[in-house]
Amino acid sequence: MGDVKRKDSKVEGQKIIEAGYVTVNDLKKVGNIPSDEIVERYAVPIIDCLEEIPCTPCHDVCPTGAIVMPTMNDRPRVKWEACTGCTLCAQACPGLAITIVNIPFAKKMFKRDDLALVSIPYEMLPIPKKGDKVIVYNRGHELLGEAEVFSVIKSPKFGTVLVNIVVPRKWAYEAKYIELKR
Ligand code: SF4
Ligand code: SF4
Repeated sequence: MGDVKRKDSKVEGQKIIEAGYVTVNDLKKVGNIPSDEIVERYAVPIIDCLEEIPCTPCHDVCPTGAIVMPTMNDRPRVKWEACTGCTLCAQACPGLAITIVNIPFAKKMFKRDDLALVSIPYEMLPIPKKGDKVIVYNRGHELLGEAEVFSVIKSPKFGTVLVNIVVPRKWAYEAKYIELKR
């Protein structure tokens, strides 16, 4: 299922379980946050899946082979240079474990360097719509603040809803959960 050597994913997964939830620092340590150079150029998937579980939809759906899993039990790792930011892995993940961070789009659309578009898988009802305000939380369910919904897509193949929100760039990797503001 790929040529990336299996490393210490079991140890990494156990460490995360002990911590209770994945943090951005954890993601950095295991290589799940791309370099500044990559994130300036492409939309990128941020994968919170650090445990060894027999699950492969993200790998199977990726059209460019950018998600590498030496065996079906290994955690997914991204070959950043092969990723096109297509979002299919986020659509396919049954665990809603993948967000997509898109800095280039935010720069082009809003002509600003301090914003990011983040695609968040969402399974609650009602589904937010463009222009709605949402409250944004990090992985520890700590409040980050408020954001606006830029667009919403529903995966034709998987049915997953991705809510695209515009956030301050400093939240790009932190933003994980949203709640529709009423
Ligand atoms: S965003 Fe698309 S190209 Fe990148 S890893 Fe996910 S499925 Fe593959
Ligand atoms: S599809 Fe989701 S839960 Fe399954 S291995 Fe990929 S990231 Fe993990």
